[in-house]
Amino acid sequence: MLLVTSSTAESLVTAAVLAAVGVLFLLRIHVEFELLHAVASSETSSSQPSKTNCPSCGARTTVDGVCDYCEEPLADDSTATDRTDETGRF
Ligand SMILES: [Zn+2]
Repeated sequence: MLLVTSSTAESLVTAAVLAAVGVLFLLRIHVEFELLHAVASSETSSSQPSKTNCPSCGARTTVDGVCDYCEEPLADDSTATDRTDETGRF
């Protein structure tokens, strides 16, 4: 009798723990999903500054005149390539 009672209590505790863990797990999934969604929408929004590869050192840097790393002046790499192509032809 004592054994049955204690094992019932034990299984109740186990069930409660499992339920708590399950709820926490679902909450965590939900929070992570929300965070991912926020990151994804901020990535797609136009507020993100455009970036380019520095023509001098190749580092990823914001397009604001000079490289963030080596401070070389940045050219618009696409138009710069076009211009070089044209001047080479002429
Ligand atoms: Zn650079």
